[in-house]
This record gives sequence, structure tokens and C-alpha cells, in this order.
Amino acid sequence: MRFASIGSGSRGNATLISQGKTTLLVDCGFSARETEKRLQRLNINASDLSAIVVTHEHADHINGVRVLARKHKLPVFATAGTAGCLAADVAEYVTEFSCHETFNIGDIEVQPFPVPHDAREPSQFVFHNGQHKLGLLTDVGSITPIIEEHLTACDALLLEANHDRAMLDDGDYPEHLKYRVSGRLGHLNNVQSAKLLEKIDTSRLQHIVAMHLSEKNNSPNIVSPLFAQALECDQSWITIAQQDTGFDWRELTNG
Ligand SMILES: [Zn+2]
Ligand SMILES: [Zn+2]
Repeated sequence: MRFASIGSGSRGNATLISQGKTTLLVDCGFSARETEKRLQRLNINASDLSAIVVTHEHADHINGVRVLARKHKLPVFATAGTAGCLAADVAEYVTEFSCHETFNIGDIEVQPFPVPHDAREPSQFVFHNGQHKLGLLTDVGSITPIIEEHLTACDALLLEANHDRAMLDDGDYPEHLKYRVSGRLGHLNNVQSAKLLEKIDTSRLQHIVAMHLSEKNNSPNIVSPLFAQALECDQSWITIAQQDTGFDWRELTNG
């Protein structure tokens, strides 16, 4: 199983998970045209995608879903709550899934789980290929037992580190936005994410990527040492997903 990102952050998100002949685009927060351009950097044609899997309806996750799905006739997987927020003319491409039931798309098993975030029916995912387990968690305001249960013993983890609490508090966001971002239905701060890493089993981890960093209220220089400390590893091992470039293909290997 391999994975990559074409961009991560509040200006757009899209992650690729690939196994055998199956390639999933998880979220499409960029315009269809921009998505196609960025996919080319990773040697992927949008028409080669197997499906778009949507986490929730916020614009930074669905901006390009409608046009990309219609143009390339791509199946779109979403919860009923999320699907209800997508444009009506994309409905014919949508397959609804339950947050509590595992399903397969081609060679990839997709295990959704519900998360606390201020959207209709947001979910995040664990992806399996029969050998490896890859966990994705962004856009979540607080850690629940269900999240810990799903993300334990992953081989790769793509984990939100949205903001540094002090930078957010001292920054120039309006009060209501500070409240929203830091709230129980907002986004994970660095310490929340590091605590999750300390709590779950990370003994199998081959890759750790910090995702959805705020450009205003966070810095890789804060995230990397914090994650390294939580994982008792070298800072150079921590990958930071970039807003403009995401990160290049990573591969899960045996042994
Ligand atoms: Zn987001
Ligand atoms: Zn969101």
C-alpha cells in the first residue's frame, strides 16, 4: 500500500491511498483543474482514480468533488449526512456508507469511524490491504475512545496537528474563530495529537505525517519536536504535510 498527498491545510486537502489497481482520493478540496494538475506531479491521471472518499462537507475537503466526479465519472463515497450537503447533480455518483461499517473499494478495505467535528456526519478512516493498516485523522476537535480504538497499531498514521494553542490564543483570529478552532468540534492542537501518539500503540509505525497544519497558528518547528518526543524518535522521521505540495508517495513495506 502506498499513499501521498497533493495538499493539506485549510486551503485544501486531498490524500491518495493506493493498493494494486485501486487508487482512492480521500477528499478533494482543490478545484478539479488544480487537482488534476497536482495529481500529475504524483504521476496520477484523475481518470485513473477508483473513487473519491469524502470525510465531510467543509469546502477545504469538497471543493472539487462535484466537477471531478462528473468529468471522470468517479464514484463518490460519503456518509448520508455528508452526501446531503453535496451538489444535487453529483447524487448519481454517490454511494452512502455507515460510519460504523467497513466496506471495500477494489483492493482496499475502508473502515470509517465517527469523529467530533462541526459538520453534519463527519468520519475519518482506517485503510487496510490485508497486511498493513493506515490511519487518517484530521478535522477533529477532541479525542474519543472510538478514535483511540481505531488508530491503535497502525503501520502509517496521517494525523492532524492543526494549531499551537498559544499561537492561536495570541494570534489575530477573531474571537469566534478562535473558539471554533479550539473547541470540542474544531481541530486538534499539537498537544492533543502528541498525547494521542503517547496513548495508542505506535510500535508498528513506519510513517508518521503531521497533517492540516494552520499556516497562521502553527509551525513545523513546534510540531516535529513534540511528535518526536511523544514517539521517542528522531525529529527527521516526522513528515509535515504541506499546503502547496502535500507530500510525495510513501510506501508500506514488510519487515
Ligand atoms: Zn479541513
Ligand atoms: Zn472540517
